[in-house]
Amino acid sequence: MLFDFFKVKRECSHRNVPIDVEEAYCPDCGKLVRNKWYLVRCSCCNIKRKSHIKYNDIIPNTNYCPNCGSTDFYVEELSNINFMDLNYAVYKKIVVQQDHFVTRQIWVEESEEQKFLSMINPKEFAY
Ligand SMILES: [Zn+2]
Ligand SMILES: [Zn+2]
Repeated sequence: MLFDFFKVKRECSHRNVPIDVEEAYCPDCGKLVRNKWYLVRCSCCNIKRKSHIKYNDIIPNTNYCPNCGSTDFYVEELSNINFMDLNYAVYKKIVVQQDHFVTRQIWVEESEEQKFLSMINPKEFAY
């Protein structure tokens, strides 16, 4: 049972969670999934740099800043996404329950954990 649980967790990409909401329950796995938006900026001149996600890391599309030539960048987490940033921002789908429960309840059997989760509104534990 524990094995199945990890298998499901790893395979679900939550692709059916819409990205225009802050968070929603994934229709495929039932987890509460939060869309987190990030913006990559140049450490040198601070302009926004287009970026993408590779192996769960956020990296700029080009090696060098088109404005100043620097290779240094930093990732800014956006509290909300606005129209101006949409062309630059990337998002990750973060499982809220995983952040707050599964890491602590990792050895609890799946059925026990779901009972536990159903008693508590996970939104209370959101950031
Ligand atoms: Zn899912
Ligand atoms: Zn720059």
